[in-house]
Amino acid sequence: MLKHFLPDQHAKSIFEITPVSLKDKGIKGIITDLDNTLVEWDRPSATPKLINWFEEIKHSGISVTIVSNNKENRVKYFSEPLGIPYIFQARKPMRRAFHRAMMEMGLKKEETVVIGDQLLTDVLGGNLGGFHTILVVPVAQTDGFWTRFNRKIERRLLDMFRKQGKLKWED
Ligand SMILES: [Mg+2]
Repeated sequence: MLKHFLPDQHAKSIFEITPVSLKDKGIKGIITDLDNTLVEWDRPSATPKLINWFEEIKHSGISVTIVSNNKENRVKYFSEPLGIPYIFQARKPMRRAFHRAMMEMGLKKEETVVIGDQLLTDVLGGNLGGFHTILVVPVAQTDGFWTRFNRKIERRLLDMFRKQGKLKWED
């Protein structure tokens, strides 16, 4: 059971994830979380650095879909200017939204990576769906109201994985 919370890979930020590193694994599509994965949970729009990162990803032929548990307003306002498809109120860790995103990108699960900052939603849902999962360090130290409860459980899991030598970064 606990193995479902363990990401296949972890990165200090989204910017460590490069088109080349994804293509080496046969990845053709990214399903990414929004809040505290791409930007701080309370930042309404993408930063210039993030816009560049998306450009690089798109130029390399890799598809992207933003899958967020947040409300329509937030996700739409962020994603539309970038021209990136999105799913709001995704109910992660339920797998349905991940599956829909994958189908809409025309890909198989082996070709799709799930990226996010939370073990209990992004990583768990991604692993249950059979995707390659990458955990990133949250962009901000603060969280929205509901996330704070999950973080308590998450901290215990991360400590355990660290002690087992399965996760190597320190925060
Ligand atoms: Mg998040």
